[in-house]
Amino acid sequence: MSTEVISNRINALSESQTIQMNQKSRELKESGVDVINLTIGEPDFNTPEHIKEAGIKAITNNLSHYPPVAGFPELKKAIANKLATDNGLEYAPEQIVVSAGAKHSLANVLQCIVNKDDEVIIPAPYWVSYIELVKLAEGKPVVVEAGVDTKFKITPEQLEASITPKTKAILFNSPSNPTGSIYSKDELQALAEVLEKYPHVYIISDEIYEKINFVGQHVGLAEFSALKARTIIINGVSKGYAMTGWRIGYIAAPLVIAKAVTKLQGQYTSGVCAIAQAASVEAFNGDQQCVEDMRVAFQKRRDIVLDIVKDIPGFNVAKPDGAFYIFPDISAYFGKSNGTTTINSSMDMCMYLLEKVQVAAVPGSAFGSEQCVRFSYAAAEDLLIQAFNRVKAALAELS
Ligand code: PMP
Ligand code: GLU
Repeated sequence: MSTEVISNRINALSESQTIQMNQKSRELKESGVDVINLTIGEPDFNTPEHIKEAGIKAITNNLSHYPPVAGFPELKKAIANKLATDNGLEYAPEQIVVSAGAKHSLANVLQCIVNKDDEVIIPAPYWVSYIELVKLAEGKPVVVEAGVDTKFKITPEQLEASITPKTKAILFNSPSNPTGSIYSKDELQALAEVLEKYPHVYIISDEIYEKINFVGQHVGLAEFSALKARTIIINGVSKGYAMTGWRIGYIAAPLVIAKAVTKLQGQYTSGVCAIAQAASVEAFNGDQQCVEDMRVAFQKRRDIVLDIVKDIPGFNVAKPDGAFYIFPDISAYFGKSNGTTTINSSMDMCMYLLEKVQVAAVPGSAFGSEQCVRFSYAAAEDLLIQAFNRVKAALAELS
């Protein structure tokens, strides 16, 4: 059957390249190729035992009926409590909506606030799904680019220049996927001062990597009191608690937006998996040592990787302050060849590394940055050492 049967809306949608590259790498591995998969951004750790136990208990206790659309009161209370304790932010449980992962939360919010041709500012490099989700909501992505020289962070001047009367929102992500950059409190303050002047602009603050921070206390834009009333926080349990498969994300938002998201979710999906919600209550209320242990492990891995790649010429990395990615600018290799393959793009580089030394990564083009490649270091230390030594050897063959 031809794709004519498919709506224009979906025909125009690109596939997620993180998921595509991960799938390709999995298939190669299953066919017996010794691939080291550094594509997908998910902790390699299993969900901590006490959280799994809470999920098992929920099954045994027959938590098998439809949950409330916006989430169980216990979970919304646990999230409100987390926001108060960790972030110093007061939210009523009615301002919180639980969805099937932060990606779902983000899609819901965009559907609820973006009208046709509304502009949404997206600093680049950006996470792979932002552009497509804005387009699905019939909005116009307005990309503001930052390079490796500013640690991939946009300036207040750039932000101000991108705001127009048609701007509906800015989609902001710190700590960032794919760069691992974190905006400092002062840098956020400077952006907040710009945003204060434009009350028609909403702030969608994706804080999914909050717990994977190597430089100190997390700060989000909602903490600037002039912005809180128009900020929507997006977060979840996937990264900090190693719970990617449980699919729990949430928003903390102005009440009118929380109500709109609940209305949409009531028609589209209903409340999300009751068992995963019960496990997430334990994630938020239980012992937080597991979060710290994983954070420390990620930091150690980052240092191991940086130590290997610092000796690779033309591999220009900004030291990441959080998340679990390195995003080197590899454009110094453009035009170089090993005699059979010439590198002219981030995709060429990824295909070369995959074919030559079986290391799988994601091209920067997926994140709006053609000069870079993203490697996830959420993998075991021995694998990382092997992988980056392989990369070093493969790049040494290019001249
Ligand atoms: N935002 C960013 C920046 C991410 O990297 C991810 C990871 N997939 C998500 C949102 C979505 O996370 P999840 O749906 O697993 O909660
Ligand atoms: N956030 C992860 C990544 O960027 C998971 C994949 C996805 O959801 O796109 O690799």
